[in-house]
Amino acid sequence: MIRNKVLVSACLLGERVRYDGSSRPVAHPVLDQWQKEERLVPVCPETLGGLLVPRPAAEIQPGFDGKDIFHEEGKVITRQGHNVSQYFVRGARKTQELALKEEIAVAIMKANSPSCGNQQIYSGEFSKELRDGQGVTAAALEEAGIKVFNEHQLDEASAYLSSLENTAAEAIDS
Ligand code: SF4
Repeated sequence: MIRNKVLVSACLLGERVRYDGSSRPVAHPVLDQWQKEERLVPVCPETLGGLLVPRPAAEIQPGFDGKDIFHEEGKVITRQGHNVSQYFVRGARKTQELALKEEIAVAIMKANSPSCGNQQIYSGEFSKELRDGQGVTAAALEEAGIKVFNEHQLDEASAYLSSLENTAAEAIDS
């Protein structure tokens, strides 16, 4: 039986790595099952990129998204206006490397984060408004062919992973 590992944002597993030193633990049977199967690979791209806990909140500038930042266009800035893009890009590159090394096909990344968000990110104006777009690491993972889900899409992620594993098992049997 083929069992792929699953990359997960560390803050969703209770690690206190968020900018304000908090975590966002998620209780869900799919995560429990994957934990039992020793599939989970926790990662925090921002601390991997060299940022500390706590750190100032940061957002991607309006008009850009994580894909642009990964390709060094636009900036990630703190509320005080400091450019912290290099840390986000380094964290995304290291996370992409880790995912490829572990042969990851599916990642569960924290929704709305400027690193981990897979569908939406904050406006870039520190207004608490969301807009469509990916975080820097989510974009880097998708660019590497990894399917990125968020913590509200665990059932969908589980179904996707099962279908990948069934297809792989059928290919081996045939
Ligand atoms: S970078 Fe990702 S894993 Fe790290 S605290 Fe932010 S959302 Fe969580």
